Amino acid sequence: MRIARALGLDTSRYGPPAPLKACPSCFAFERNSSKVSRWHTEHQLPGVFICSRHDCLLLVAKDEANARAKREFLQPHLLSPADWHSNPPIRDADMDILLKLSKWATSLSVRGMHPGVQFDRSALQDTCHLQAQRRGWVAIDGTLRFKQIREEILASHTRLAKLPTLRFIETAEREAGGFVGLLLHKFKSYHHPLMHLVLLSFLFDSSEAYEGAYRNNLLRASEIRRKPLTEEREAIRQKVSECVGRNGQSANSTAQKLGINVLRALTYLRESGVAYKTRPRIVGSTKEALLTERLQRGDDPGEIAKELSIRRGYIKDYLAARPKLRRDFEQAAWSRRKEAYRSKFLRTLADNPALPIKRIRRETNSGFEWLYRNDRQWLEDALPGIWHRPPAET
Ligand SMILES: [Zn+2]
Repeated sequence: MRIARALGLDTSRYGPPAPLKACPSCFAFERNSSKVSRWHTEHQLPGVFICSRHDCLLLVAKDEANARAKREFLQPHLLSPADWHSNPPIRDADMDILLKLSKWATSLSVRGMHPGVQFDRSALQDTCHLQAQRRGWVAIDGTLRFKQIREEILASHTRLAKLPTLRFIETAEREAGGFVGLLLHKFKSYHHPLMHLVLLSFLFDSSEAYEGAYRNNLLRASEIRRKPLTEEREAIRQKVSECVGRNGQSANSTAQKLGINVLRALTYLRESGVAYKTRPRIVGSTKEALLTERLQRGDDPGEIAKELSIRRGYIKDYLAARPKLRRDFEQAAWSRRKEAYRSKFLRTLADNPALPIKRIRRETNSGFEWLYRNDRQWLEDALPGIWHRPPAET
């Protein structure tokens, strides 16, 4: 360094914009053959993790070493082991991802050297969106299944977050999805190219596959290239409109036939401007007053449904949503059932005055069993004479 300064060769004082990276095999070889080593431009590209010559993981310089590089003429072999971040153990599957990322980074940088090749933002977004659909990560309304994408990235990439320049991957675990959320929710902001690179290489098998798809999309108008995203929804919407609008079927039966939720069918009908009939509302009508009254009396829901032309399921939901009414109903229904059993039993006794209780119990459908299990006190109180007769053998 003293020699360099004596020769007037001072450093520029500008440090490297990103952490310096180097391949240990490259600089060991260079040092042995020529006593000096150099920083390879290819290794400095964001997203390059592997030396293409030696297939080994690059070392990443720590911040202090990067700061020193502003003042000194640093060569990779001059850095001590403590100047480098230690690399975590890398499995084969992780190595594959890093190799893929490195290839992507190199090919995109080659692309960037040509003038006028900036990506068209909307074509790029659509290309990614359509690829996500091919992967099954787009909902029927054309929106991205954000949670699913985040989970898949985490499943394949979490271990890579241990690498010094990929720590941001960890942010995907946050509720808003960290870097995945930032990139997918079209916020108009700029993010580190490495984040884009991770997402692109996650979506596409290779940069060539991406380039091909992108070039095709660039030739198409936005509304045409986006068509596949909502094609399926559009087909169902048309089918619903046809069944209800032209064939006069009900929205309910149409939804059932097409296997979709009735609320979705109604949305489609509204969108298509097709008039549809809905069942008259019950809540707030005189029918509701009748329904409540009969439930309070403990009437059989099946009968109520038939007489008031209300669905049985509606009554069930109606009760479930009203705990007090439900308690009243259950209590009233219980009392009514009890009354019915009591009078039935008394009637049987009256109709068969000569029959001993043993035989009444065994031979007639008198309701004795039910009363014995559920209303025994009444049996004891009201019928002492009968009770003291010898009980039936079981
Ligand atoms: Zn190397």
